[in-house]
Parts: sequence; C-alpha cells; structure tokens
Amino acid sequence: MKLYEPVMLAMPLARKLGELITAGKRLPDGEEVIEELRKFGFEEICLDRGLAIHRGRFIIALTFSGREHIITDILSSTGELSDALEVMAYHDRKLEAYIVEILPANELEFEGNIGLEPVIIDDRTFELKSNPVLGHFEEDGGGIFLVIDGETYERWKEERDTGTCPICGGSLSWKGERAYCRECGYGVEVVRG
Ligand SMILES: [Zn+2]
Repeated sequence: MKLYEPVMLAMPLARKLGELITAGKRLPDGEEVIEELRKFGFEEICLDRGLAIHRGRFIIALTFSGREHIITDILSSTGELSDALEVMAYHDRKLEAYIVEILPANELEFEGNIGLEPVIIDDRTFELKSNPVLGHFEEDGGGIFLVIDGETYERWKEERDTGTCPICGGSLSWKGERAYCRECGYGVEVVRG
C-alpha cells in the first residue's frame, strides 16, 4: 500500500503504538518504533541519538524518542505543512494512563481527534480505556479505505455516532460494511476477523 498522505501513516502507527504499550506494559523505545517504520517500507536517511528520519515516496517521518515520550512528526515530502501530523505517545501520571494521540499541525482543520478519541491505556491494568477508531489503509477500485476490525467498530458504535468520519470529522454515509466521506475522500471499511 502506498502511503500518499501523513494520515495514512499516522493512524496505523498510533494503533501499533497502543498495541506495543499493551504488550510491553511500557512505552515503546525508539528502536521499536523505527522497526515499525521499516515495516511500512520507509528508507532510513538518518539515525542519531534520539532521532530517526524516514522517507517514503510521498511522506517523511521524523521520530524523536525520550524516556517519557515518543513523537513521530509526519510531513508530505513536498514540504506542504497543512496536512502534517504528529503522533505522540506518553505516560500521563495524573491520568495514570498511557496516551497515544494524533495532533494536526494545523489545528483549525479538525476540531476533534483524528481517530475520534486518543488511545488511553490504564497504566496498571493495561486495559484500553477509550474507543479510538484506528486501522490501516487499503486501496482498491472503490477508493482508499481506513480498514478497521469488528471490535473497533463495535466499540465505536456503542460509544458514539458512526456517522462522523474518524479521519476528518466530516459526515459518513454507510453502505453495508463500507462508509464514504465526501469531505476527505477516504472511506471506512469494517473487516471482521
Ligand atoms: Zn472524512
């Protein structure tokens, strides 16, 4: 799958970071995140203490890792900043939780969260406390779809309106297991395992 826009990396990466936190019972380190970026087929152009730069055909990712946080900034390789995103994972001591969120560089564009809710993982039980709508992207004749699993869909449906696009906040129209967003042009597809 070609990753044309920052959101196409941000959403699967945020999901993966959540999985790594649950599995490892701690924040992933820089190495683990770099390993994930390699799986997306990115070329490594710089690896330094606490910093990694990865380049895909259409996007560039800069990863900064520290003891308490890990941040990946994702930009279009054209240098266009309007669709740039930051994926941030950190431990919030007050909330007693690990948080993974996707922050738009241009915050005016989408007032809600990309993925509708951040990933919130209890720091003792390592249970997921929120209902983020995250997945990976696939392209076919019908367009480009955010593919989510059945469990994600059920949690989404229980907690809130499934008529809101998790990518841009626009309105979705559903046809069976697929929904289309007129605003961002992406679709959402539910694939039950
Ligand atoms: Zn949309």
